[in-house]
Amino acid sequence: MSKGKPILDQNAFDFDQYNEADTELATLIRRRQNTIGPTSMLFYQEPLHIVRGQGTWLFDNKGTQYLDVYNNVPSLGHCHPKVVEAICQQLSKLNVHSRYLHDTVHIYAEKLLATMPDNIDRLVMTCTGSEANDLALRLARIHTQKQGIIVSEAAYHGNTQIVTEVSPASYKTQGPPDYVVTIPMSPLTRQGFQAGDWLAWHVRKALQTLDSRGFGCAALLVDSIFSSDGVYSHPTGFLQQSVDIVHAQGALFIADEVQPGFGRTGDCMWGFGRHQVVPDIITLGKPMGNGYPVAGLACRLDLLEALTQEYGYFNTFGGSTAAAAAGLAVLNTLEEEGLMENSQQVGAYLKEGLYTLKGQYPSIVEIRGAGLFIGLELGIDGDVNRPDVEKTTAAINLLRRDHILIGSAGKFGNVLKMRPPLCFSRDNADLLLGTLGTVLGELG
Ligand code: PMP
Repeated sequence: MSKGKPILDQNAFDFDQYNEADTELATLIRRRQNTIGPTSMLFYQEPLHIVRGQGTWLFDNKGTQYLDVYNNVPSLGHCHPKVVEAICQQLSKLNVHSRYLHDTVHIYAEKLLATMPDNIDRLVMTCTGSEANDLALRLARIHTQKQGIIVSEAAYHGNTQIVTEVSPASYKTQGPPDYVVTIPMSPLTRQGFQAGDWLAWHVRKALQTLDSRGFGCAALLVDSIFSSDGVYSHPTGFLQQSVDIVHAQGALFIADEVQPGFGRTGDCMWGFGRHQVVPDIITLGKPMGNGYPVAGLACRLDLLEALTQEYGYFNTFGGSTAAAAAGLAVLNTLEEEGLMENSQQVGAYLKEGLYTLKGQYPSIVEIRGAGLFIGLELGIDGDVNRPDVEKTTAAINLLRRDHILIGSAGKFGNVLKMRPPLCFSRDNADLLLGTLGTVLGELG
């Protein structure tokens, strides 16, 4: 089985395949190419020109509306009025860096930390998940005086130099550097209730490899829903043994909550909670500001003290007054609108409907996920060992034709990834299920 496209290239627009029928769109695409260039890909073979968002819907320049099953950043819903109002009010009054005292910043930090385990008692605010993970790796290395990092085989953790090195999903031509060892995920569910033992065996082996290479291990870094690996959610608790082994060796466990955090998995505020493990460092991002750039890292005080003895740390926009206002509005609204509960209920309803589709379409080989974070894996002739990447890509483009936006993930790129805003309704789920059934029927 060959490795699929890197996750950042999945569902990418290919200019060579474009027939330029819509000249208005073609002009925009050319302007994009001539200014922004190759680091910024476009989705879909027929790119979308989106001009407005509301709740679970996106609207294009011609007024066509699309059901958003892709975007987990506007987690409360696109342009949520409470967040928009909080940001606008703050921007019209004051927006400065975090080197002055300000109530909102402190109220926010207290409220956020109260959702975390007791040992996690400090918050560093950043602008992106990448910055948070970059800092997490520095903290782990300073604390352990070791260099090695263990990550999952198709992990994505961000875009700085070091974070790219620990993101196998970004590699195009090379393997990991010697200080990075990967653990497999794609065969996990085939281990059934032995999944935890199986993973722990691989973590033990990775620790030995890092020791034999002279790096030792600074941290096990995982996205606790294994989003880019293709969504691995069950059996809950499968991370426990691995975390214990890493801790026994003196290394840290970093939970990357950029994808599963803020209630998305329905049963817990944080993805690591589903595994009953306590991280040393938690990294945050994406939904934290519902679209306003808010991200961060939460950890124990001693880890930050060790860093600041050696280096200064400052993040100009991280923890700005407007960022804190956005973050606080997100936390409050999540609670007030019961969105975590909605994620659990509608997620379960959607999953049930997907199981019904699985009975009708044998190409669906597995359905995984928790709350409104669901992966649906496609195999050729229903064979779990033959990833159907072509059908996955075709399904994404046909769903787009039928006004539903969805993504893909996984080591081979054969997993349909569903993670809509958490205000997703049963009606939204019915529309998705009906359209997905039609598309799968069309694809045969
Ligand atoms: N961690 C995970 C699990 C992610 O999915 C991402 C972004 N897709 C990041 C970190 C990086 O976040 P950002 O793009 O905000 O730097």
